[in-house]
Amino acid sequence: MADTLAPPTADARVAQARRQALALMRPPSQMGIICIDITNKCDLGCSNCTRLLVNQDKFWDMTPENFRTALRSLEGYPGTIAVIGGNPCMHPKFAELCRIFAEEVPDKRQRGLWTNNVFKHADLAAETFGVFNLNPHNSKRGVASLAPLKERGWYYEGHSDHSSLLAAIQDLYEPVEMWERIGRCDINQNWSASIVQLGGDLKAYFCEVAASFDLARGGGHGLPVTPGWWRAPMEAFHAQVDRFCPGCGIPAKVKGHLDHEEIDTYSRTNADLAEKSVARKSRKVQEVDRTTFETNEEKPVTLYSPNLYVKGPRIFVVTPYHTESLEWLKRCHDSVMAQQVAANVTHIMVADGHARPEIDGWNAIHIRLPKEHGDNGNTPRAVGSVVAQTNGADYIAFLDADNWFYPEHLASLLEGQRQTGASVLCAWRDFYDPAGQKLAMTEVDEDNLTHVDTSAIMLHSSVFDLNGLWSKMPRNLSPICDRVFFTGVKHKRYMQCFTRQRTVGFTTLYRRHYEGLGLPVPANAKTVMIDEMTAYLTSVEGVRESVARLGFWPMAI
Ligand code: SF4
Ligand code: SF4
Repeated sequence: MADTLAPPTADARVAQARRQALALMRPPSQMGIICIDITNKCDLGCSNCTRLLVNQDKFWDMTPENFRTALRSLEGYPGTIAVIGGNPCMHPKFAELCRIFAEEVPDKRQRGLWTNNVFKHADLAAETFGVFNLNPHNSKRGVASLAPLKERGWYYEGHSDHSSLLAAIQDLYEPVEMWERIGRCDINQNWSASIVQLGGDLKAYFCEVAASFDLARGGGHGLPVTPGWWRAPMEAFHAQVDRFCPGCGIPAKVKGHLDHEEIDTYSRTNADLAEKSVARKSRKVQEVDRTTFETNEEKPVTLYSPNLYVKGPRIFVVTPYHTESLEWLKRCHDSVMAQQVAANVTHIMVADGHARPEIDGWNAIHIRLPKEHGDNGNTPRAVGSVVAQTNGADYIAFLDADNWFYPEHLASLLEGQRQTGASVLCAWRDFYDPAGQKLAMTEVDEDNLTHVDTSAIMLHSSVFDLNGLWSKMPRNLSPICDRVFFTGVKHKRYMQCFTRQRTVGFTTLYRRHYEGLGLPVPANAKTVMIDEMTAYLTSVEGVRESVARLGFWPMAI
C-alpha cells in the first residue's frame, strides 16, 4: 500500500499559525520607541482610546521613584524613550519627572513627549524633550497649548479615527486567520513596548495595548521592570501574546468612530470592560459581531502621522543547521532575537536533515529539509534566502549555527549602509574555541578587507541576485563557499562596506588557527584542502563547471 501523508489536523494548523505569528513579532529591543505611561489621567475621552482610560477602575500617577527605576531599566536602550499617559502633562509632579528624565537620560534626543495638551508646560517641555508626538485631537485648547512646540516634532491637528481595541479578533476571525493577523499587527510592527505602574508596582509589556488591557483588568501580567528587561527575546513575551492578543481588536482593524464622538466599539470577549464603562462613566458603546463588523483594512490603526513611529527595515537572518548541539543553536538564535536595532528582525532556521523539534517553539521560521545535502549549508542558505525574499526582506544576513551576533551587529551594518550606500555590508569576527574561550587572533584577509565570513555578511535587497550563488556553487567548492561568494560580489562589482567592528562571535574548528596559536587542536578540527580545490579549479572540468554555473572563474578575480 502506498504511503500517504495525513493532512494536518485543525489544531496543528492553528499551532503552526501561532508559531509563524510569534516568529514575525518584534520584541522591545527591535522597536525604535519604548513608552513609559506616567499617568492614566487625560483631559479628553477619545473613542477607542489606545490606553483604555475609561475602562480602568482608578486614577493613578507613577511615583518619581518608580519613574527613575523605569528609566534605569532602559539603560543602554538606543531608541526614543517616550513619556505618555493619558496626558503625561497632567501628572501632578510633571516638573519633577522632567528633571529626573534629564538626570537619567542625558541625551535629549532620546527623551520623548507624547501629549495632546501641555497646558502651562510648553517651556519646560521644550527644554526637556527632543522628540515630540503632538496630537490635540482638534481640541481648541490643545491646539493653542501646542502652538509653540508644533514645529519641533510630529504634529497632527485634526480629528483622529481610532480603530476599535475592544472588538476582539478571536470573536471575528477563525483561529488560523486570527494568528496570521496578529503576526502582522500594526502596533507590534510599528509602535511600542511600554512600562506602566499597576497597583504601585512597575510592569513591562511587549506592547503598549497589551499594557492597557492589563491595566483595565487589573491583572499584573507584565514582566518585572529589572535592568535590561527590554533586551529579552520575544520568547519571554509569548505568555503576554497568548493572554492579550486574541482578545485585542487592533489586528481585526474594525472601523471605529472619530475621537470626539466618544463611542467605543466592542465584541463579546470585552463585554465586561464595555459594560463597566457604561455603568460607571455613562460611556457610549456599540457592540459588533461576525455579521455586523466593518473593517478599515487598508488603514493603519490610527489616521494620524503615518511617519510617527519608527518603521525599520525588514531583516531576515538565515541560519543553516545540521547536527550542532541544542545549546549552540539556542545561543545562535538568542543572539538574533537580542539585536538592538530599529528593524523588524526575523530568524529563519533551516534544518539540513536532522531537524530539532525544539526549534518549533522558538521565535523563528523553522524550515525542515528532509535530507542533508553535504554542501556546507549552501542548499539551506539558498532555501532560506528564497523564503526571506518572498516574505518581503529588505536585507538578508547569514549566521552559521555555531556562531552568534553581538547585540549591536545588525545596527552597525545598517549604519554602514546609511553612511556609504553600499549594498554588501561586512563585519569582522572575534574567534572562540568550542568551549567558548576567546582566542587571541584575527584573520589577515579579513583585516585587509579581502575576505568576509558568511556569518559576517548582510545583503541589501538590490543585490539579492547574489543569493543564486548558494545553489549554483559547484559542490567541490562548498568548503570555501564564503570565499567563492565574496568573489561573486567582486565579479558583480557590487559596493562593499566593512564596519571594521568585531560584532560576530565565531567558533573556529580550523586546525591552522590552533596550530598558529600553539594551542591543542580540538579532536573534531578540520583542514581545508586548498590543494585539492586549487587542483579542481585549474582543471578543465573545474574551469568549465564553475564558469557555466557561477558565470565567472573564481581564480580569475
Ligand atoms: S488623548 Fe485621547 S487617545 Fe490619547 S490618552 Fe487621551 S483619551 Fe486616550
Ligand atoms: S496586544 Fe493587540 S496591539 Fe498588542 S501586539 Fe497583540 S494584537 Fe497587537
